[in-house]
Amino acid sequence: MTTQKSSDPASYDLPKKIVNLNDIDSGLSGTIVIHSTRQGPATGGCRFWNYPDTQSLHQDAMRLAKGMSFKNAMAGLPLGGGKAVINIPQVNFDRAKIFRALGRAIQALNGEYVTAEDVGTDIADMTNVAQYTRFVAGLRASSGRPGGDPSPFTARGVFECMRVAVEGRLDRPLSDVTVAVQGAGNVGFQLCAMLHEEGAKLIVAEHNSAKAAAVAARFGAEVASCNSIIEAKADVFAPCALGGVLSSRSVAKLQAKVVCGAANNQLAVPEVAEQLADHGVLYAPDYVVNAGGIINVAGEYLGWTIRNVEDRVNAIAPRLKNLFAVADQNGSTVQAAADNRAQALMMATALDSRAA
Ligand code: NAD
Repeated sequence: MTTQKSSDPASYDLPKKIVNLNDIDSGLSGTIVIHSTRQGPATGGCRFWNYPDTQSLHQDAMRLAKGMSFKNAMAGLPLGGGKAVINIPQVNFDRAKIFRALGRAIQALNGEYVTAEDVGTDIADMTNVAQYTRFVAGLRASSGRPGGDPSPFTARGVFECMRVAVEGRLDRPLSDVTVAVQGAGNVGFQLCAMLHEEGAKLIVAEHNSAKAAAVAARFGAEVASCNSIIEAKADVFAPCALGGVLSSRSVAKLQAKVVCGAANNQLAVPEVAEQLADHGVLYAPDYVVNAGGIINVAGEYLGWTIRNVEDRVNAIAPRLKNLFAVADQNGSTVQAAADNRAQALMMATALDSRAA
């Protein structure tokens, strides 16, 4: 494990610390990026994914970790932002061994970083991490306490935000719209279930054909190809796969007038927020709407009650509505309104801790 510290931890773009993970025995290869610990321990899930090269893995980890600082501050959590990203080995590997090695690396950070699930990881992986460290959440919930898979909480928050966005932008109820969902994994599938229950029509695209078929069979969704979902004839586009899906090229093809989904880092570059607005699209910023999972993780790690977690998840959609109003008032994008709010919240904590 090698550690690199940034020279300017006060900057929002530079992380506080980067830890390179390289354990030859288990095959663990990746990074832990600690973006900020100003609000509390850097907390964010662990991604287990196939990256074409080290540079793209590091870029993804840096953006994801920064996003966690903004997300946690926006949700009012006493947590900083960080992320672990692991490359899936190209040769045979022992999964449990990799996650136990990750547990040892996290333990060596002595509480500076707390992990949980993200794309490609599950409760079993976190249980292996927990053999070596207590700085982990997303473990099986004990009865009456928060814990377990965070994705139902993420899906709930996204669903309620979508309701607010659709009512605000289209002046229609959710039951009267068609939603194009990209990715029917842990969050996407549950979002589809809620939308179906509400009476919305669904179009889904999913790399894994068995998952796509399940959404079609269970919720009557039309299945679209992964390449064409962005231009599906839908009122709402819900990115629930990976980041970077909204670029100037893809926004030009977008049919939907509302974008609201779970994926982290949906904007390929920040300028896309303005392009979406120019295209007449109401964009619900990802880190505002997808905070349900990390709220549940925080509840588990910090020992809150389930009621406290639910109250905080229920506060996500009203927060988004308020940001819509602020953006309207200032003539800015909703993304700019959200970034300003998150930065002000982070700054206030930094000043508080200096005064204390
Ligand atoms: P997941 O791995 O369970 O699901 C992602 C799904 O997307 C997979 O089924 C995958 O096959 C599919 N996919 C990948 N690329 C695709 C593409 N181009 N087109 C169509 N399908 C594609 O992950 P998840 O937990 O459901 O998370 C989804 C997104 O939401 C991720 O970006 C994650 O970081 C974000 N998120 C998740 C949570 C959570 O609680 N799980 C919380 C906050 C944010």
